Amino acid sequence: MNPKESDPSEAFRLLPGVDEVLRLARVLEIAARSSSREVTSLVRRALEALRSEIAEGGLDAAALTERLAGDELAERVEALFAADRKLGVLPAINATGVVLHTGLGRAPVHPEVAERMAEVARSYCVLEVERASGMRNRRDDRLSELLSRVTGCEAAIAVNNNAAAVFLCLNTFASGGEGIVSRGELVEIGGSFRVPDVMTRAGVSLHEVGTTNRTRIADYRSAISEKSGILLKVHTSNFRVVGFTEEVSMEELAELGSEMGVTSAFDLGSGLIELEGSAPLDMLGGETRVREAVQSGLDVVSFSGDKLFGGPQAGLIVGRKGKIEALRQNPIYRALRLDKTSLRGLEVTLQMLLDGRGDEVPTRRMMHLTADELKSVAEELAAGIDGLPGLSAECSADSSQPGSGSAPHIFLDTWVVRVRHDSLSPDALGRRLRMGEPILFTRIAEDALVCDPRTLLGDDARGLLQAFAAIQDRPSQRSKCH
Ligand SMILES: *Cc1c(COP(=O)(O)O)cnc(C)c1O
Repeated sequence: MNPKESDPSEAFRLLPGVDEVLRLARVLEIAARSSSREVTSLVRRALEALRSEIAEGGLDAAALTERLAGDELAERVEALFAADRKLGVLPAINATGVVLHTGLGRAPVHPEVAERMAEVARSYCVLEVERASGMRNRRDDRLSELLSRVTGCEAAIAVNNNAAAVFLCLNTFASGGEGIVSRGELVEIGGSFRVPDVMTRAGVSLHEVGTTNRTRIADYRSAISEKSGILLKVHTSNFRVVGFTEEVSMEELAELGSEMGVTSAFDLGSGLIELEGSAPLDMLGGETRVREAVQSGLDVVSFSGDKLFGGPQAGLIVGRKGKIEALRQNPIYRALRLDKTSLRGLEVTLQMLLDGRGDEVPTRRMMHLTADELKSVAEELAAGIDGLPGLSAECSADSSQPGSGSAPHIFLDTWVVRVRHDSLSPDALGRRLRMGEPILFTRIAEDALVCDPRTLLGDDARGLLQAFAAIQDRPSQRSKCH
């Protein structure tokens, strides 16, 4: 045995009991802000941490006595309490430049939309009742009406997200039968949404047609049988086959469907809306507009509420009245329907679009920001960061991406701030910023940490500077030397 290693039982005996720690003034203060039940579990965790340090031989009786005298336990309980309150769905600053960042909650809604959402969240609201008659009605009647004005559809229905929308369409129109999909469109979106898997779960057998790069309308036609329930077109959001390709147009698919009596559907992914009064999102090139898809004659078209559309999370299905009614009659709809706050958020976002205020929708506004506009913001940020101890910053031209599988081939010209730290690697710096206050997410390039001002909202520029300044204030990690 190493002579320096003392008997751990002596150190264990020095550890106070839970009740004793609970009586410490600083611990009582936390209990007053929370509850004794919550604090007791934190005290147990703090003691457990010390116990394992002792057991691992890293803490002897002498060192422990010293640390306990230094109020170590109260400090640990405070740190655990603070860390515990920093978990969950917290506001964060997005300086990644990825406009629709799924990890960061995709589309932030307009403050006015958020306020209307909060209003119905904290009160009762007119959700499923008609005011004039006092009779029960449908929660998304108004949404359906607004969506028909915006997209030209006959009717619409809203569900939890676009994955749910696709599931509902498959299950309603093709359960027990076949769904016909082009081989080139059997995509996986975001790791867990695979078209073939979703079909299986919806009770639909997949009938693949064509090849990865070429599918013709004749391929669909020859696949149709009495088992066919749906002709599904899927937007290949996050990849693009280039070169010798051919895909069936929406019009051809719609026509074939109506000729053969099979429902035609298009999973559009991102809902690109173009309305007069708002600058078109021309940078997205040939991205299909929802209105075009509706006009093509397809029976149903689905898209996300929180991608380019710029609203809260939702799956929106627009299309023919009879088809939408069939979706509504499916008992599964009940399990997929939207809550009052999301419905309100969608209504108000649609109303903004109809009022010619589309340019104010945050996702649209961020997409439109020019490199020139962003350059001046980047320069201001760089000046603010460059002065801070340990940090240096410079601006450079770069590109941002729409994100969330929207237009993977699209890069938007931007200006970024490249930040370096004297002693921290870009990765380590990025981690500090993510763990700091305010919470800041950035991009990591090989040699620097990159802040893209495209995705900063409201007061975020100030918050970003605070986040960098806070790195300096933070006491260095507790030394692990004994
Ligand atoms: C994003 C996307 C989905 C999934 O939509 P969620 O709203 O995230 O459920 C489905 N299909 C396509 C083509 C998409 O781009």
